Formats: sequence, C-alpha cells, structure tokens
Amino acid sequence: MLSHRCAALGTDGVRALREAGYRAGVTILAAVDDRPEQLEMIDFWKRMNDAFRTAGLGSIRFEMVSPAIGAIAWKGSTEASGTRSERPGVQCHFAAGLLGGVFSRAAGKTVDVLEIRCGAGGDQPCWFLLGAVTNMRSVHAARQTAARSGPGDRTSTVPTPPRHAPGTTS
Ligand SMILES: [Zn+2]
Repeated sequence: MLSHRCAALGTDGVRALREAGYRAGVTILAAVDDRPEQLEMIDFWKRMNDAFRTAGLGSIRFEMVSPAIGAIAWKGSTEASGTRSERPGVQCHFAAGLLGGVFSRAAGKTVDVLEIRCGAGGDQPCWFLLGAVTNMRSVHAARQTAARSGPGDRTSTVPTPPRHAPGTTS
C-alpha cells in the first residue's frame, strides 16, 4: 500500500509520510496515557504494545542498545505488512515518523528515529534505532560510511540487540 509507492515519492513524499506518521504517533500516545512521563517503564511499554495491537499496527518491543540509544523491533507495521517481497533498504517512513511522534512527545524533546533494517516481505520485524538528535549523529554517520563502502557488509552497522531488555520477563 504505502510502501509500494515509496520509490516514486521523492523527498517531499517521504517527508509527508513521516509527518503523517508523527501526527499518528502523537495521537496514539495521547490515547495511551496523557501523562506518559509518570508511567513506569514496564507499564509504558506494555501499554504501547497493547495500543499498537488494538489499532492493528502489529506489535513493538523495546530494547536499550546503549545508555543513549534505544532499539525497537516492530513486527507487522502497516507498510511492512503491505509488501510481499523482501526489499533492501529503508522504506517504513510512516512507521519511523510514528515512532518519532510517540517518543518525542513522551520524552518532551525531539527523538530521532532511523530504520536500520526493514523486515518487509519477510518474517523478521523492522528494526528502528532512536535517541536524542545529538546521540543519533554517530549512527547516521556510520550508516553513510557503510553506504559509501558498498553493499558488501550491510550488517556491520546494525547494532547487536542487547541480551537483556528492560521490562521483559522472558
Ligand atoms: Zn520496515
């Protein structure tokens, strides 16, 4: 659906998708709780996951990659679900915008969101990294370096998911 046209969208189209996603994220967060900063971490993530499922948006799981960078595995996002074949590269612009809306509003400051691995067309979730704009600069820089060096080692910039995720009981 959305994702099928991404290649033809151009920069303006991508930005429009992200902005629409951002607004959706703000709306979802407001529906989950009007004072998210007062929720315990575990309650926040449980409520977010419930809200995503209820809205038919799939499921999300949060993990810390470093003290400054978090990762979200999002399974079954609207864009990824609408794509049948695996396609390399970033494509879930609406989803990235949505996460940005949720977490920028929850944190009270701009949170930068970057899709680092898209699961569209496969069984794997889409992986997003998020953090404060300044903290994400090194992530963007690493990805640009990897892009210049060619497609030989695409996995090298994907952080290893942490062994322990806060708020999980498994
Ligand atoms: Zn994706």
